[in-house]
Amino acid sequence: MTTGRQDQSVPTEGGVGARQSRSDFGGVAGNLALLVALPIGTAYLYFCARFNDGRFFPEPGADLEAFAESLAPSWETAAVYLAWLAFQALLQVFAPGPTVEGTPLEDGTRLRYRMNGRSSLLITAVAFAAGVVSNLFPLRWIYDHFGELISVVTLFSYGFAFFLLIYGRITEPARNSRGVVVDYFLGAARHPRIPPVSGFDLKVFFEARPGLIGWMLVVCSFAAVQVEHHGSLSTAMAVVCALQFAYVLDYFWHEPAILTTLDVQHEKFGWMLLFGDLVWVPMTYSLQAHYLIDHAPRLPIWAAVLCVLLALAGMTLFRLSNLQKHRFRSAPDGLLIWGEPAEFIETRHGNRLLVSGFWGWSRHSNYLGDWLLGLAWSLACGLGSLLPYFYPIYFAFLLIHRERRDHQRCAAKYGEDWDRYCRRVRWRIVPGLY
Ligand code: NDP
Repeated sequence: MTTGRQDQSVPTEGGVGARQSRSDFGGVAGNLALLVALPIGTAYLYFCARFNDGRFFPEPGADLEAFAESLAPSWETAAVYLAWLAFQALLQVFAPGPTVEGTPLEDGTRLRYRMNGRSSLLITAVAFAAGVVSNLFPLRWIYDHFGELISVVTLFSYGFAFFLLIYGRITEPARNSRGVVVDYFLGAARHPRIPPVSGFDLKVFFEARPGLIGWMLVVCSFAAVQVEHHGSLSTAMAVVCALQFAYVLDYFWHEPAILTTLDVQHEKFGWMLLFGDLVWVPMTYSLQAHYLIDHAPRLPIWAAVLCVLLALAGMTLFRLSNLQKHRFRSAPDGLLIWGEPAEFIETRHGNRLLVSGFWGWSRHSNYLGDWLLGLAWSLACGLGSLLPYFYPIYFAFLLIHRERRDHQRCAAKYGEDWDRYCRRVRWRIVPGLY
């Protein structure tokens, strides 16, 4: 372990460990199963919130016919969604914002990324408000077309993932292929861009813009429908909206931090990430607000305050730990963490592993903070149904699985140095527990 000032050596994404495995997510069979199961799961959660009285398990009398009809895609919804994607893509290209460099690639070069998320979000908010006020885009449109949106965006994901597969097959050496199914599901190219190398970064664009901003609009629509149905906004809905907005705003406030995450540095871009960004995040992370439309529990002020405090604790842990690693990886020279020079472990690979601050508590304190935030959204919905708790339950599995995949990748990449790091930072996610 080394303590003190660091020089400017920077991580690269090369090395055996950086490669994704052919057996990730159950290999070919697991990938095929998830290609079917994830869209069905999304539709099922929609069914529970809208047609099953907010219950997680099917109830007698649920209107299956209306549910099935509501999923039928329409040209209107497809046109609106494509216009939405085009609008966000135009903002990505033209909205003002700085351009920053990512971490070095295998050949030592760095890609450049336009970080104009804040201005894009602001312009979208103004355009959305203008659309609503002028009645061009009624607030409840998203609510009314939610089933169609699930189908349309899922179909788009299946189609666009083919484009990503072909792109990867053309631009990547054949030896990097993991077979057609895995390449389709997990991606064939790590940094697909149009045009290749210097252009528009598809992964970073889809990672945030249409899905995360879309999630905010979905939640706005659900809140508006609650007001229409019940005459006022419940405290629970206000808390859920405020906390979810804060999560998305925080992302855009610290947008460059995305460049040192697993997804951007190491994951290839295929159907799983695309579907996650475009369908899973906006359609299922809004489940609490969806549930609350017609199930407004009485949330006393003290309970609302507790939810907000829990979310603030989670947000602080999530954001500060991500920032500590991001700053360490981007500009390590002279970095102070909690008033002390950052401590790190030198590796033979050349990268350094931070062991100061939250990165000395556990190997993924950022995951714990993120999970606590989601728990706070769910607790605001009361204890009347399991449905709003789907997110923290699923997310716990996702984060545990993600940590294990990352651990395997880093163990292969850093070898004995990773073992040393794990002995120094013993806990995987929750200090003292796991
Ligand atoms: P991290 O941001 O923790 O990145 C992991 C990578 O960081 C590792 O692969 C390694 O890359 C590097 N690293 C690991 N340990 C250290 C260390 N001690 N010092 C320096 N670098 C280290 O993970 P994720 O990208 O998975 O998550 C980023 C955030 O996104 C998290 O807060 C997570 O909660 C959130 N997230 C949210 C999701 C959601 O759906 N809401 C889904 C997934 C993530 P290298 O090879 O470069 O060393």
